[in-house]
Amino acid sequence: MAKLIYEDGRLLFTKEMKEEYTILIPSMAPYHFEFFTHLLQTEGYKAEVLKNTSFDLIHEGMKYTHNDICVPAMLVIGQFINAIKEGGYDIHKIAVIITQTGGGCRASNYVSLIRKAFKKAGYEFIPIISVNASGMEKNPGFQITTKILFKLINALIFGDLLMQLVNETKPYEQIKGQTMEVYHKVANELNEYFYYHNFRVFFQPNALIHKAIKQFEAIKTIEHHKPVVGVVGEIYVKYSPLGNNNLEQLLQSEGCEVLTPNMLDFFMYSFDSTVHDIKKYGGSFIQSMTFSLINKVIEHRRNKVRKILKNTRYRVPKTFKHIKSLAKGFIDYGTHVGEGWLLTAEMIELIEQDVPNIVCTQPFGCLPNHIAGKGMIKKLKQHYPSANIVTIDYDTSATEINQLNRIKLMISNAVQKETPSNGQR
Ligand code: SF4
Repeated sequence: MAKLIYEDGRLLFTKEMKEEYTILIPSMAPYHFEFFTHLLQTEGYKAEVLKNTSFDLIHEGMKYTHNDICVPAMLVIGQFINAIKEGGYDIHKIAVIITQTGGGCRASNYVSLIRKAFKKAGYEFIPIISVNASGMEKNPGFQITTKILFKLINALIFGDLLMQLVNETKPYEQIKGQTMEVYHKVANELNEYFYYHNFRVFFQPNALIHKAIKQFEAIKTIEHHKPVVGVVGEIYVKYSPLGNNNLEQLLQSEGCEVLTPNMLDFFMYSFDSTVHDIKKYGGSFIQSMTFSLINKVIEHRRNKVRKILKNTRYRVPKTFKHIKSLAKGFIDYGTHVGEGWLLTAEMIELIEQDVPNIVCTQPFGCLPNHIAGKGMIKKLKQHYPSANIVTIDYDTSATEINQLNRIKLMISNAVQKETPSNGQR
């Protein structure tokens, strides 16, 4: 059994553990995280994305976190502890992994919150791996190598693409269930990329992407147009069905098409924010250059996807540069705690795409997103009178009925205002 090694009182994930341990990944974005297991497996790790979503999980979260903490932190901790207790794992051979943003938000402190919760629950022997780009916490058994970075970028590109293809096809499919059938098949085929050998990993698998899009395009759809609803907000509650009470499904069952902005924009925004701060207040030139370079690589790859999408019936997502330009005059680029200016820019992007119907998801206890989301709505409505934005607070101790009523009211406004040009591609 691997020896427990500590550094400054922190339990490390060692090279020995890499061989023996299974890394548990919290579920957040089903379309994106689908690829993480294969990504890590092909790099010599054993990994599993958690699937537990029972009500007990919320209780565990509430029990082991302070009631002041934001909902995403509470759910992630609750999911880990519930999985450790009920998941049937050998608890001496598991580790957990979580991102650490390094910004001013609580997301930088999830690692210490998990550590505290594990100690309270008697699991302090379970190592916690931090994934961060600023060298905050290092572990000898886990490293983001250049190969992993490229695989990660492609996993997120695949996730963004599949999320878009499903959301733009499913509401219009002629044969019920066909879109999800194609989705599972295509996701499996895209996993092939992670098994590419050596330098092939550094190239984008354009043929696989092209084939994926074609398979969705082959699904027969109805002509009927449905109201389009954009979903923005804090990253966890925006993408996680557990965090947002299955918002995507709810909107689809209410007869809407869902449009959720790309997750990669959030990562580009995070890198861009560090570059912004280094320019303004000083810092590492190398870090600034590295982050700018990563953003260039991401955009270069996404441009290839845009090029393929241009000749299809699907929307072509906007560039990060364009999205950033939309925030100008509304909110300062220095506002980058939580989703910061990106949240405002995403709402403008949707409105300018003729999608004024927006659900802005806000976790309970999340001050930054209440400022850049809810706090910006008055200004947005003054500038765009057609904006039909509803903010929904996600609080695990509140009833769902309140959320449902507000969403339904927004949808009925959308249906009333519906024009033939709404949501045009
Ligand atoms: S953005 Fe909000 S929800 Fe996310 S970690 Fe920060 S405070 Fe919590």
